Amino acid sequence: MTDQSNQTKAQKAQKINGVRGMNDLLPADAAQWAHLEQVLRDLTRAYGYEFLRTPIVEATAVFQRGIGEVTDIVEKEMYSFEDRLNGEQLTLRPEGTAALVRSVIENNLLYEAPKRLWYTGPMFRHERPQRGRYRQFHQFGIEALGFAGPDIDVEIILMGQRLWDELGLIGVRLEINSLGQAHERAEHRTALVTYFEKHQAQLDEDSQRRLLSNPLRILDTKNPEMQRLIEGAPKLLDFLGDESLQHFNAVQALLKANNIPCKINPRLVRGLDYYNLTVFEWITDELGAQGTIAGGGRYDPLIERMGGKAAPACGWAMGMERVLELMKVSNSLPAPLAQCDVYVLHQGGETLTTAMIIAERLRSAGIDTILFCPPDGDSASFKSQMKKADSSGAAFAVIIGPDELARNEAQLKDLRASGEQKAVPLDGLLEAVMEAIVGAPE
Ligand code: ATP
Ligand code: MG
Repeated sequence: MTDQSNQTKAQKAQKINGVRGMNDLLPADAAQWAHLEQVLRDLTRAYGYEFLRTPIVEATAVFQRGIGEVTDIVEKEMYSFEDRLNGEQLTLRPEGTAALVRSVIENNLLYEAPKRLWYTGPMFRHERPQRGRYRQFHQFGIEALGFAGPDIDVEIILMGQRLWDELGLIGVRLEINSLGQAHERAEHRTALVTYFEKHQAQLDEDSQRRLLSNPLRILDTKNPEMQRLIEGAPKLLDFLGDESLQHFNAVQALLKANNIPCKINPRLVRGLDYYNLTVFEWITDELGAQGTIAGGGRYDPLIERMGGKAAPACGWAMGMERVLELMKVSNSLPAPLAQCDVYVLHQGGETLTTAMIIAERLRSAGIDTILFCPPDGDSASFKSQMKKADSSGAAFAVIIGPDELARNEAQLKDLRASGEQKAVPLDGLLEAVMEAIVGAPE
């Protein structure tokens, strides 16, 4: 025996760790995620949004075109690779919108009428992992496709507000801006380039590059040393024409009518390239540097740019890890769920056979049941089994020892309220358990 275990030790394989920035969802956190997902399903149903799931892998071109070449995501954050078999250029999706639009076009979903859609799932970005910033993270997003008016911009914002209320989040504020239309941004851009050229010495390396490729994105920099410079830059809002201003004013009026407070942030430009008119973010000070829990806006040009028939669109996406973190800070996470309703204890041999049959009978009746299984294959004392039953969170234990079996009985024990234990005939056990569960406090 000792020889064998020594040998096992010597040969013990080196452990393999998970990939940095990509997290396991452990059982202890599963109930929180399930709760959040349930709230999201209810929310989308309440507003008539339909679920659409795209694959995790897409042709790289989907994101290059859909997100824009000069963005953090496409420039440096994508997990892209070549398919070894056919040389296709593929990418693990870094966000949901471009892929969803690809699917909507490919499946002709906008053929007859506009669509309200939602999605959720893992996204992948090669960023520096830190609190609230991971390389695999999860997003929930909604997209309203084929609607041009400010009403839908406000509808999706209302959904966000309802969600934060539903989840009990504290300290979330809404910031909005209008990016106008392409020709308005072009005029603003000219003014911006002139301004930044005058102050070129103060631009960091990224911004120097963006001065030529996409100067609007300079406003999106996280570099604190450039904030003063950006403060003084020409504001896009001053370049908006009547139509864009009208849309923006209507959005603000409808928000006000619905008692949704918001702050206009003229520097809000969003990380992705495809936005126009309304853009917005929900921000909190409770999560340190990663304070944006969700963001979105209008992206009218995207569908046509992706090869579809031109149609207006808007939507937003939320980081689920950040929202769960904020739920924790807000003290609004749900209590962990019990693993089962009933825990069944036995002493091996014939009592195991009976216990197993009874456990199956309980499950068939919809009662969640864990049957004790000895880790080493031998039966264990009732005392140690009872500890497991307790920590499972079960409301009741069913105990079948040789004495009980001889009398065709089981013991039914209340593990929570009363601690009461009573003998029940095996053929009436299911009814007794059902009755006890119905009568038990939640
Ligand atoms: P950030 O400015 O924080 O990098 P972003 O503008 O890149 O965010 P979006 O592309 O708009 O983010 O994604 C929508 C939401 O997804 C964000 O508001 C955030 O909550 C979440 N998110 C984005 N990147 C990550 C990440 N690496 N890890 C966890 N959550 C993320
Ligand atoms: Mg980012």
